[in-house]
Amino acid sequence: MKLYNTLDKKVVDIKPLKEGRFSIYNCGPTVYFRMHIGNIRAYVDWDVLYRALKYMGYEVDRIMNLTDVGHMTADEDFGEDKVETQAQKEGKDPLNISNEYIRTVLEDFSTMNILSPKGNKVDPNMDLSKLEEEGWTRATSYIDQIISMIKKMKENGYTYETKQALYFDVTKLDDYNIFTNQSLEEKQEGVREEVGVDPEKKHPADFVLWMKRVGKYENHMMHWESPWGDGFPGWHIECSAMSTSVLGEKFDIHTGGIDHISVHHPNERAQNIGAFGHPSVQYWVHNDFLTGVEDIKISKSSGKGANLSDALSLGFDPMDIRYLFVSVNYRVQLKYTKESLEGARNARLSLISKLKALYKQSSEEGNILEDYKQKFIDELNNNLNISGALGVISEMIKSDEKPQDILTTVYDFDRVLGLNLKEEVEKKELDIPEEVLKLANERIEARNSKNYEEADRKRDEIENMGYHMIDTKDGYTIEKK
Ligand code: AMP
Ligand code: ZN
Repeated sequence: MKLYNTLDKKVVDIKPLKEGRFSIYNCGPTVYFRMHIGNIRAYVDWDVLYRALKYMGYEVDRIMNLTDVGHMTADEDFGEDKVETQAQKEGKDPLNISNEYIRTVLEDFSTMNILSPKGNKVDPNMDLSKLEEEGWTRATSYIDQIISMIKKMKENGYTYETKQALYFDVTKLDDYNIFTNQSLEEKQEGVREEVGVDPEKKHPADFVLWMKRVGKYENHMMHWESPWGDGFPGWHIECSAMSTSVLGEKFDIHTGGIDHISVHHPNERAQNIGAFGHPSVQYWVHNDFLTGVEDIKISKSSGKGANLSDALSLGFDPMDIRYLFVSVNYRVQLKYTKESLEGARNARLSLISKLKALYKQSSEEGNILEDYKQKFIDELNNNLNISGALGVISEMIKSDEKPQDILTTVYDFDRVLGLNLKEEVEKKELDIPEEVLKLANERIEARNSKNYEEADRKRDEIENMGYHMIDTKDGYTIEKK
């Protein structure tokens, strides 16, 4: 398989360290708010990667962190701890806050058909003490591993201590900025604002490994004993400690959004080298952003409008949103608009209506069409070329293969896409109310006589009654929303 490795700045052949078995670390959510739809895009992207590797027959060991301490606002060393700030705002204990928001992560994963890191369907009501079994690692459960990793870095001479914190000294590495090729001087310019918070900090790019419970953090609620005093870990060390203690000092793939290319991931890499004398990650893979999340105000009611429930409240099905994310490659920036959601919905419903037609013509169990399957796999192997993979589906649907074989093969592909296609296609046909059918006919008449305004009005009426009308080559189909 080929993936884009950010360090090589190109698409490379990926080979697991262990034959037939990939190890993957997904940078996961900081659990202090209901994640926005952009975060969900990231997790759908990595869900597809996981499913694709499994589909091709690899074993996959994967974990995803849940950051429940030490991630500061604006990703600064001396910001406010995101979880604690939310705890204060809501008048709750930080543990309650992280549990509450972990629950929302589980809900959103379940709704979006995103598998747990272990590869199971997510039960939103699962017992939170079972998170680890499903591959979710909580930072607060890894304090011992964090401390022992910091000790190694200290022994190897990569750290220094001030009255306020223990730092990683980035000047000890020749290639700290290997991700961006920025010089340390340029980097210094970028982070000048922060200088002065700790007068003993040597270089602005140095970052906190352990924050002491003094000064600004005197009353930090979450704190642990350490060789550097009572305090709490920095954000970057959490990922390094969790990834290497579960997956080993070397593992295959580390994912995250492109926002982590400039600071978080260089810091993780530096820590790994500091502790083990070598980098840990073979391939760094980053997803581009879903844009328009912050400013779109897609829902009027909440004012924020950027989480999953906001999108669903507009009448979209979770699988419309999943289709939108699945249908573009992880490296393509995607715009989040009502129009893009509508486009995805139409494409998905049109696929389903074509599959339904095949379903009606199928009389027996089908077989997988191996030639098409190979083409599908070739597209996945090509840096997850999903539009190519969807193209294989269209080509197959148009072919004169047996309907039941086409269907069986598409259902098999859906192990990667995760669009619940079998369920959608084979769901009992609904009795469409007479009134809706009448409106549909009126809409077609209006459209045929080029009265598009009237046609749009009829479509709106159908929508308001809880149905979608989808135009097809041979007419239309109607689906319940
Ligand atoms: P956070 O909880 O902020 O650490 O974000 C969780 C994951 O979502 C990280 O891997 C981010 O890089 C990623 N992410 C954040 N915003 C977006 C966005 N708008 N589009 C895609 N991915 C994002
Ligand atoms: Zn991380």
